[in-house]
Amino acid sequence: MSLDFDSAKIDNPYLNADHLAWRDQLRAFLEKEVIPYRDEWDEAGKIPDDIWLKFADMGILGIGYPEELGGISEGIDPWHSYVLNEEISRVALGGIVSSVLVHAIGLPPVVKFAEDHIREDVVPKVLSGTHRISLGLTEPDGGSDLANLTTTAVRVGDHYIVNGSKTFISGGMCADWVSTAVRTGGPGPKGVSMLLIPTKLPGVERTALDKKMGWWCSDTATLYFDDVRVPADHLIGQENMGFLVIMNNLNNERLAMCGHMAGYSLTHLFGRSHSVGSRSRDLW
Ligand SMILES: Cc1cc2nc3c(=O)[nH]c(=O)nc-3n(C[C@H](O)[C@H](O)[C@H](O)COP(=O)(O)OP(=O)(O)OC[C@H]3O[C@@H](n4cnc5c(N)ncnc54)[C@H](O)[C@@H]3O)c2cc1C
Repeated sequence: MSLDFDSAKIDNPYLNADHLAWRDQLRAFLEKEVIPYRDEWDEAGKIPDDIWLKFADMGILGIGYPEELGGISEGIDPWHSYVLNEEISRVALGGIVSSVLVHAIGLPPVVKFAEDHIREDVVPKVLSGTHRISLGLTEPDGGSDLANLTTTAVRVGDHYIVNGSKTFISGGMCADWVSTAVRTGGPGPKGVSMLLIPTKLPGVERTALDKKMGWWCSDTATLYFDDVRVPADHLIGQENMGFLVIMNNLNNERLAMCGHMAGYSLTHLFGRSHSVGSRSRDLW
């Protein structure tokens, strides 16, 4: 028996025939649609727009999301997502997760906590690959200490007036919406809310971060909010309860990262040696 990506994996007793068939479909798709282009996309610093549509057609964008919102949930369990995260890591293109799959961190707060009419508008558009959403937590002054974030949203009539900045926002240059952590109350976690900010609103500006060590094909943005008037119905969850929304959301991300780590560790051993662009590989 030869040692490769599949044979080196620890046997997973929770995967059934359906999970394995999903893995086969994903692998064939990614080998055709992604692997031949990965250096090209890293060097260009972007992934072509039609890839979002192809990922949507393949069911990748919608996996695990409610059927009534355009997702695929019948017969789906968390292991389908785990398999996706392993297989997407096998292609060794780090930035693909933080671009084509970044809705996995931006969208769940909307699915679970937004008002019905917002959810029904936003979620199907994102899952069909025509629109994009990012998650805006980190600020120039810090990311770990979220409880002390300083971007403010002050309620004036039917709007929140947002001022502040977010940085390191994956997919932020192309996002149509950003699920954004803002301060609506006093200091600490009990003054934090989540607000869905449409990036087309006046007062939203964005700049791309310069070249990163890896994840080249994924854009990473700094966002600036200058007196942005966000309709109050774009609040995600209850006012000043945003920290619960954030914590709920980060649990999903941690689980996804387990699949990525398992996949990358095997890719590193048996596949492409680096998940960064070819010029960077030359440096190593
Ligand atoms: C490529 C990339 C993509 C990203 N995408 C997103 C995104 O889509 N959305 C988003 O919101 N954020 C995103 N981030 C930001 C990421 O979540 C933050 O970088 C992370 O939260 C850490 O924040 P920071 O960089 O401000 O570091 P800091 O919080 O300033 O921390 C710096 C160092 O100090 C340590 N430290 C901090 N506090 C303590 C403490 N109390 N005790 C001991 N040690 C401490 C940290 O562990 C770290 O080593 C992205 C970052 C990168 C690099």
